[in-house]
Amino acid sequence: MRAVMLGMPGAGKGTQAERLARELGIPHISTGAIFRDAVQRGTDLGKQAKAYMDRGELVPDAVTVAIVRERLQAPDCRRGFVLDGFPRNLEQARALDEALAREGLSIDAAINLVVPAEEAVRRITSRRVCSRCGATYGAGELAASGESGGDVCPRCGGQLVQRDDDREEVVRQRLRVYEESTRPLIDYYAARGVLVEVPGTGGVDEVAEAVGRVLRERGLGIDRG
Ligand code: AMP
Repeated sequence: MRAVMLGMPGAGKGTQAERLARELGIPHISTGAIFRDAVQRGTDLGKQAKAYMDRGELVPDAVTVAIVRERLQAPDCRRGFVLDGFPRNLEQARALDEALAREGLSIDAAINLVVPAEEAVRRITSRRVCSRCGATYGAGELAASGESGGDVCPRCGGQLVQRDDDREEVVRQRLRVYEESTRPLIDYYAARGVLVEVPGTGGVDEVAEAVGRVLRERGLGIDRG
């Protein structure tokens, strides 16, 4: 299955995309994670991307599209992929469609995780990432692991920090960019008949179940037997 995960920052795209990809045995491709990794390693790409990320703006399409095109050429994408955080605007969506069409392929599902903006802001400003392994934790997960007041990654023992762009003023700008540039993708994929909408407000398991259910209803995705 070739899927894209839509939804505003904080909707749970990363968590759900990772899980869906794992269940389907296909790669989870997060452009945000690719950029964060490049920033951390101090590569040219990282230096270029950081200024945009710090302001909550989109990295230019030319850079982003080239990265995704190259990633989709890798052999592990032959059976499908779950894209997370890409496309973020109509230009990127068109570029993706063109790249796939050249191979006679297309997007099977655009999964829109729907959450109210205030819930998204609350989730983002309370989430923490591990500075060593990159794992992301919501406030709920940290409480469950007994790390609610702590700053240690339950998986690897690395230090948990707030993402630079998860500070409230940057988050507000990211939501503005979402409304202006990314929300129009809902209509774009609806017009192509591949949009599926899932409430993203429940717990992680509940939302994952709902994603699986709507995909199965369309004859796509996960067969749990
Ligand atoms: P994310 O983790 O998806 O929220 O992405 C974090 C930041 O990376 C965004 O605020 C952008 O600055 C940048 N970014 C991620 N994906 C894209 C994309 N498809 N196009 C442009 N910039 C992106």
